[in-house]
Amino acid sequence: MLQTYDFTLDIEIMNQYISYNSIYHTLICRQCGYAIPQDWIMRHFRQFHKTIPLVIRQDIINYGLSLDLWHPSQVHEQWQNMNVKSPVDSLTIHPGFKCQHNDCLKYTRTEVSMKQHCRKTHEWVAKDSIIWTTQQLQSFFGGHYVKYVYLMTILILDSDKSHQATLNQVRDSQSLVTKTPWLRHTRWEEIFIGKDMSELVKLSNAPGMQEPHERRIWDATGRVIHACFNGVIDCQERGWTLIPFWLRSVDRNKEDTKPFRTYFAPATLYRYASYWQQYILFSLRAMMGEESVQFTLKQRECLLELNTLLYEINVTDEANNNSKIEKKILELSVLLIQHSDYAKERSSLVYFTGVLGYNIEWKQWRQPLEYTTILAGIQFCTHVIMLEAALPRINRDEIDETSSENPVELFRKVRDKWLIDGEGIILLAKSLINQEHHLIIFIVS
Ligand SMILES: [Zn+2]
Ligand SMILES: [Zn+2]
Repeated sequence: MLQTYDFTLDIEIMNQYISYNSIYHTLICRQCGYAIPQDWIMRHFRQFHKTIPLVIRQDIINYGLSLDLWHPSQVHEQWQNMNVKSPVDSLTIHPGFKCQHNDCLKYTRTEVSMKQHCRKTHEWVAKDSIIWTTQQLQSFFGGHYVKYVYLMTILILDSDKSHQATLNQVRDSQSLVTKTPWLRHTRWEEIFIGKDMSELVKLSNAPGMQEPHERRIWDATGRVIHACFNGVIDCQERGWTLIPFWLRSVDRNKEDTKPFRTYFAPATLYRYASYWQQYILFSLRAMMGEESVQFTLKQRECLLELNTLLYEINVTDEANNNSKIEKKILELSVLLIQHSDYAKERSSLVYFTGVLGYNIEWKQWRQPLEYTTILAGIQFCTHVIMLEAALPRINRDEIDETSSENPVELFRKVRDKWLIDGEGIILLAKSLINQEHHLIIFIVS
C-alpha cells in the first residue's frame, strides 16, 4: 500500500521540535540537544516526548524515516573529514576539556577523565604541568541509550578576539561551483559582501528597556499584525469563504484547495508577528544611517512621518496616539511590501529577510529547514497585511450584492499584483516553499 504524507502544513510545527542538519544528515531533537539515530526516532519520541501532541509526533516520525539519515559512524566520519568544524545548530554545548598532546583528538567532559586519558595514553604524571585546556564541546549523539558518544570542538574561542572581530564580515570567497545549492539559491554572500553582519543584525534587535519610543513602535506593530490576522477570521464570519483560499494560494489563477490557516498556537502567532515588529524597527533604525538598506521616496517619507508621530504625543489621549501610530505602521507596511520590481532601490524587505538568515550566535548562515520557518512567518505577515490593504475592515460592511466588485475581485486585484507577481521576497518564499515545504513522502508498507 502506498501512503502519502504532505507536510505542507506541519513542517512549521515540527520544526519547533526537530532540526535537520543537511551537512551531517542528522535529525536533531531540539529539546534534548542531541541527534537521534534513525532506528531510534520512533522510540525516542514515544518514550521521551509524550507531551508533544500525538499527531505531531507521528509526523516527526514519518518525516525522520523519510530522510536519508546517516549512521552515527558515518556522521563521525564526516566530522573528521570536515576542514572547518563549525558548531552544529541545536546541539547542546557542554563545557569540557581537550587534550593538547600533538594531534590527539581526545575530548572529555570532566577533568578527571582527561587526567585518566593522559596518564594512560601519554604517560602523564601529576607532577607534570597540565597538557589539556578547557574547551566547549558538542556531541552529536548522547544519552545512555546511544552508545556512540562523540564530542565536537567549537573552533570559535572567546579568547580569539581578533579572529572574532572579523568573523561576521561577509567574504564571498567561494566560487559558485563550491557553494552549497542553498547559498547559491539565496545569494546571501553576494548580497552582503563586505558587510559586517553583526551591525545589520543589531538593527533588527527588539527594543531595549531604555527605549520607550522603540518599545512603542514594537507594541503597535504587534497590534497591527494581530488586527490584520483577525481580518482573516472576519472574512469567514461574513461568509466570504473564498477569500481564505485565495489568500493561501501561490498560483496566479487558482485558489488553493485549502484555506489560509486561522488557528495558530499562540506562541507561533507571537513569533510570526515578531518578525514584522523586527522589520519595522529595522527600517526605522536603518533610515537613520545604514546606507545599504534602501527605501523609495514614499517609503522614506512614511518612515519620517512615523518617527514624527512618536514625538508628537498628546499625553491625555493615549488611545488616540496609539491608533495614529498603528495606522501609520499599516500604511508603511503596505508601502514596504508594494516595492516595485522596477524601483531603483533594492527592496528593504528582501534585504531584511537576508539579515534574518544570519545566525549571529553561530556566525553562520541558517540552514533551509530553520530558515523556512522564518520565511513562513514573514509570508504570514505580508499576506494578512495585504488582505487588510485590499479589504479594509472598516469598509467591509458597505460591500453587498450591489457593489461593482465583490470581495474576491477586490482582493485579487491586490493579491495578483503584490503577493504573486511581486519580486524578491515573494518569489524567494515561493520557490523555497516549493522546494522545502512540499515534501511528499512515500512509505511502502
Ligand atoms: Zn528528545
Ligand atoms: Zn591525548
